[in-house]
Amino acid sequence: MHELSIALSIVDLVTTEALANGASSVSRVEIGLGNHSGVIREALEFAMEEAVKSTLLEHAVIEYVSIEAQSCCQECGLNFTPEGLYLPCPDCGNPMPELIHGKELIVKSIDIETTK
Ligand SMILES: [Zn+2]
Repeated sequence: MHELSIALSIVDLVTTEALANGASSVSRVEIGLGNHSGVIREALEFAMEEAVKSTLLEHAVIEYVSIEAQSCCQECGLNFTPEGLYLPCPDCGNPMPELIHGKELIVKSIDIETTK
């Protein structure tokens, strides 16, 4: 259950952040998920439902935003959207262009509620 451990670490991170800001609960969390992160969104959504139980995030709306993959070729400087992982640069054929976006799994924003 790869996704469950990811979900638990997201809950951990958000909880720490929320508590540091004096939150009594978290109302909304926005998660950015790269196209090539290797995480299956449906599986993560399911895992999150389990992971938030009895936490500050229990009633939070979890939103998922996908992050387009983007590669940059160090040889010719081309920026492009790769069709898949490990494909050569479409311009100069460099076999290892660098994936600069698309592998991310990040908490983009958190909305909290405080009791006061
Ligand atoms: Zn290139």
